[in-house]
Amino acid sequence: MKDLDYIESILELLENKLQLSRRDFSKASVLLSSGLLLSSAGSFALSGCDRKPEWKSISFLKILLHNFQLFDGLQNRLLKDRIILIEEDKIQGIERKGDLDQYRDYKAVDLKGWTILPGLIDNHVHITCPFMNGGDVLSKMDQQIEYNLRNCVMSGVTTVRDVGGSPGKISKFRSKADNNEIPGPRVISSLSMIAARKGEQLGWPVFMPYIRNPQIKEIIGGNFAERPATIRELKEITEEMIRMGAQWLKTLHHDHTISFYPRRIPNHTDEGYKAILEIGKKHDIKCALHAMFVNGFEKGVELGFHSLEHIPMDDVIPERYAEKFIAKGMAIMPTMMVYHDFLNHQIILELLEDHGKEYLIPEAVKQVSNIISKLLALEKRNLSEEEQRKLLADPRYFKEMFPNVVENIKRLNGMGAKIGIGTDSGTFRGLFGRYNDELRHMTSAGISNFDTLRMATVVNAGIIDMQEKIGTIEKGKYADIIAVEGNPLKNIEVMDSVAMIMKGGTFIKGKGVHGLNL
Ligand SMILES: [Zn+2]
Repeated sequence: MKDLDYIESILELLENKLQLSRRDFSKASVLLSSGLLLSSAGSFALSGCDRKPEWKSISFLKILLHNFQLFDGLQNRLLKDRIILIEEDKIQGIERKGDLDQYRDYKAVDLKGWTILPGLIDNHVHITCPFMNGGDVLSKMDQQIEYNLRNCVMSGVTTVRDVGGSPGKISKFRSKADNNEIPGPRVISSLSMIAARKGEQLGWPVFMPYIRNPQIKEIIGGNFAERPATIRELKEITEEMIRMGAQWLKTLHHDHTISFYPRRIPNHTDEGYKAILEIGKKHDIKCALHAMFVNGFEKGVELGFHSLEHIPMDDVIPERYAEKFIAKGMAIMPTMMVYHDFLNHQIILELLEDHGKEYLIPEAVKQVSNIISKLLALEKRNLSEEEQRKLLADPRYFKEMFPNVVENIKRLNGMGAKIGIGTDSGTFRGLFGRYNDELRHMTSAGISNFDTLRMATVVNAGIIDMQEKIGTIEKGKYADIIAVEGNPLKNIEVMDSVAMIMKGGTFIKGKGVHGLNL
């Protein structure tokens, strides 16, 4: 879509503001017989769709969880015969099970022998992704963002780090999720990415033009990626992100297309990267670098970024750079799903056919299915060299390079590197709610279940400097607790279905839990 068409479609929508807010949720009181109810919950209705229409959350002043096995995020075994005491949003204590009668002023919740774990953390998402292009984005974006947040938290993810999205939308939906008006995780965010002008155009929405007009930016909530043309603009926009509340900064090193015949694409200069890092340092804010190739990994290590996003696919990481990466205390989110999905387009297409409406609004299902079908057709054709040169990302290249992804994860893990978990949900196949797929990919790459679960909880919490608040089940931490049926230390597939979810002491899911009815 050309800039002009896009702007015209915005103006059209402005004239008909009704279309901009087509959500429908209302406050509803939930009264429970125990008399311990702390707050009534928002009820949430997804309008105009086939999803489960109702959602509610339940809080109590004091909660006692019992009848569970505990993975606390620290030990490679399940603890038994414990109870957990929760007051408001925090864990007050974990004690050996005794006479429950002494806790009469607590709401006792029987967890049916399930395994409980700390709420999962996804350190790489894009929650404001509309999964759509074109004029429909503006009218339906909010609805899709609500889907994203809901699917994310309902898969057991209670905290996310968003590394690129529309600042206005992030702020708006973050507060709704924090207030439990809608189901959603706690959101840490970099707000807009700071990309190079005419630089990397992957991600979604791919055709969204770069908007510079302040009034239009205000309406759309800001750009997914800011694209400064000069160092001065880059510094200004970095400061602006921080002023607007960015808790991280996100930029990209992506100097060529993902292809057997790579074509150069614009990138920041070293001066630009250094300026972002310096501004971050001045405000005590860390910086993440997208880097899918070895040269980006090396650049990130040399310049001292705090986290690297994705993992090099074009070759194995040279040992001395892996060593430096570890010595500097850097972290990496491999986002295996991004690479693995290229091997799996047929399966994703089937997933969309069977369950698409659970993840996406109808228009988004149509658009995502369409682009995946095109990629599949592309894979089957014999492309000329010239055609291959035109591709931003060649599916066949992803397939051929996948062993490098696995090797690099193994290598870094073997050397004791800090590896976190991120799904990159919000890219066009990165549907929210697929965290379990990422866990499975990590274990398939040879990481033990225990290490994978630690990455998903305590390690991820440390990467975002929230280790004092989340990531383990310990006294004083937020009561972010999920439950699964079975032992995930033995069988990672049990993470496919999360039976109970509590975020900050509020129940948002409790399949069959007596007294919750969620
Ligand atoms: Zn991403």
